[in-house]
Amino acid sequence: MIKITRETRKNPERQPPPNSIVFSYTPRKSEEDARAYMAARLRQAGIEDVEGAAEPHETKVDARCAQDLNLYIRQEVIDELLVHCAEMAADQLEALGFLVGDICRWNGERFSVVYDVVTGQLDATATSVRFREDAFESMFDELDELEYDYVLIGWYHSHPGYTSFMSHIDLDTQMRMFNQPFHVALVADPVTMELKAFRPIDDTCIEIPYAVVET
Ligand SMILES: [Zn+2]
Repeated sequence: MIKITRETRKNPERQPPPNSIVFSYTPRKSEEDARAYMAARLRQAGIEDVEGAAEPHETKVDARCAQDLNLYIRQEVIDELLVHCAEMAADQLEALGFLVGDICRWNGERFSVVYDVVTGQLDATATSVRFREDAFESMFDELDELEYDYVLIGWYHSHPGYTSFMSHIDLDTQMRMFNQPFHVALVADPVTMELKAFRPIDDTCIEIPYAVVET
């Protein structure tokens, strides 16, 4: 049984949310903007077209949308996870990683900032739960090696070529492994260029807004 240890913070630091927003995503409004943004970031990293669509083996869970912004992601994190997802897509593989950062509070509201990723280095041949558990286990070892205090904010994975959504397997993974109210799942499709963020609230899957920041 894997245990997430530093998953929460008793006294979140009091500070205003980052104001250096370079891209912000609103569910069901920003799809086009996100495609352009992701393509630009990948181009910056020397990646033009991402191919390697895999067969979808996941079925979609209906999601509702939330409007309140409380998730901020450093642009370096976006770059790293997009490149990871694009490289894995070339071999028709799913990319998987942790999102680490901090929880802060301001005006009575909590928000998360993702400032780093820890990536899974295993070879995944399919979207299997077994692969995920092995990958998570090796990533927990890597988390132990981080030399700074962090909060595990959530995880990301890719759906190469079959769009960004939460599947039943994803939701099950989220419920078992990431059960704090702030834990988030980012799902990236580097082929169709989609990046969405989800959090289950009670039994409902909610797609949430996020902002990319420069820090
Ligand atoms: Zn998935």
